[in-house]
Amino acid sequence: MGEVADMIIDGTLCQECGMLVYEGNPLKASGAEVSPGFPRTCRVCLVEAKAENDAEPCPECSTGKLRGARGGGVECNNPDCWYWFCF
Ligand SMILES: [Zn+2]
Ligand SMILES: [Zn+2]
Repeated sequence: MGEVADMIIDGTLCQECGMLVYEGNPLKASGAEVSPGFPRTCRVCLVEAKAENDAEPCPECSTGKLRGARGGGVECNNPDCWYWFCF
């Protein structure tokens, strides 16, 4: 243990999901051990965080935000809220 934490701290792994971060690290693909030396967030997590920030607030509760629902439409991401809307 400790190795994964070190790899997150030096930016080899994403600080959010722990996956390898390839972005801005082109030499990694050729097997060279190159890391930026600071924690990073991978593109997937950045896109997810952005989607969360851009989400419409729920009209039914003050804390929820709307997200895509399974099977279509949107639903509130607040588990205590019933809100669901199908276009
Ligand atoms: Zn990530
Ligand atoms: Zn809601």
